[in-house]
Amino acid sequence: MKKVVVLIVSCFLMAGLYAQDFDKYFENKTLRIEYLHIGDANSEKFELHEYRAGGVWSGTRMYLQEPNRYGDILVEVFDSISGEPIFSRSYSSLFNEYRATERALKETGSFEECINVPYPKKTILYTFTSFNRRGEGTVLYKGSYSPMHSPAREFSDDYSVMTLHRGGKPEECLDILLIPDGYTKEESVKMQSDLKRFSSYIMDCSPYRENAERVNIRAIKGYSKESGITDPNNNVYRNTLLGCTYNVTDVDRYLMCLNVWKMNDIADDAPYDAIIIITNSTKYGGGGIYNFYATVCSAAPEANFVIVHEMGHSIGGLADEYYTSEVGVTDYYPTDVEPVEPNLTTLVDFGSKWKSMLDPNTPVPTPATSHYKETLGVYEGGGYQAEGVYRPWQHCTMKEIIYNNFCPVCTKVLNDMFNYYSNREN
Ligand SMILES: [Zn+2]
Repeated sequence: MKKVVVLIVSCFLMAGLYAQDFDKYFENKTLRIEYLHIGDANSEKFELHEYRAGGVWSGTRMYLQEPNRYGDILVEVFDSISGEPIFSRSYSSLFNEYRATERALKETGSFEECINVPYPKKTILYTFTSFNRRGEGTVLYKGSYSPMHSPAREFSDDYSVMTLHRGGKPEECLDILLIPDGYTKEESVKMQSDLKRFSSYIMDCSPYRENAERVNIRAIKGYSKESGITDPNNNVYRNTLLGCTYNVTDVDRYLMCLNVWKMNDIADDAPYDAIIIITNSTKYGGGGIYNFYATVCSAAPEANFVIVHEMGHSIGGLADEYYTSEVGVTDYYPTDVEPVEPNLTTLVDFGSKWKSMLDPNTPVPTPATSHYKETLGVYEGGGYQAEGVYRPWQHCTMKEIIYNNFCPVCTKVLNDMFNYYSNREN
């Protein structure tokens, strides 16, 4: 009984904290702040580029303050007069992956980033706080935007949009936008067929399948001058719509887009919460960064797995549960700090993770034996580390090349995200 009362009180608090009046502060329009994220292993800074405005606001209207900070960068928006926090959202960035590489010990990197916020009716103040792996935050930038006085370049309108799956209104759904890269006009039929195929991969995978009425999938019809994708290790260079490339942060299969401003510019022609780039390539690769974007190669045999795995990162904020593969980072998770990602634990604060979902008879840590196959547990190895970091399931889609096999923890996190985008309580 006591537990029920506590639950009701916490739900009430959640609603009070997050269900603010959207119309009081915002218009149904998007403001995009574009900036560079510059630095190396030991320092970082933000440099403002420009403000853009237009489109509709397709994001959540209920959770104006993000319930969980899964990202490394926290953007907070305040009313300039009252100082009241009126919007927040976190994301992770390619910069933070770059700065964990050996290259960042001797070279400065500069990465395009941007954030979409609902368009303010009055002057706002905003801050960018960068969190390290120990969970320590540093405010790196403070800015202000006035709808009366700050010039914002309007979004342009260049591309036609295909609807591949319709669940409901943009403001009540997770709006996924596919953008093709490396397809020429002559490959239009192949491009459209690939986009439809990837839409099916998403909607045939749990828990997207069970939430079909809360997901929209659209695609931009955008062509490239040359066919294929840049692959520096094989001396292949292609002039494409988004300029996606393999070998980002010196990992051969890491396929990403460095032209983030252009990517968002192209995306403006449709309502979107999440961008997935479909690249015209046969080489295995892809990437996904929380609230940033994801990429996938079109023709690799495991492409259905790659897209839902990378969307686990970019939409769910989920971590990699593997620990034996080639990655470009070292000692990513300090083992004396609880990671922010919901599907890993160091057991420092396991109560904040999936402890309440465990069968009390399951040992912690759980031996990775056939006896515990298909059992929610606490298995050592995850987040690129064999020791000191634990994952919830032996063979989740976030660990291995198995399509449609998200573990109960990852499934719950994705379900919570559907609630976030469709304005429902968890
Ligand atoms: Zn999982």
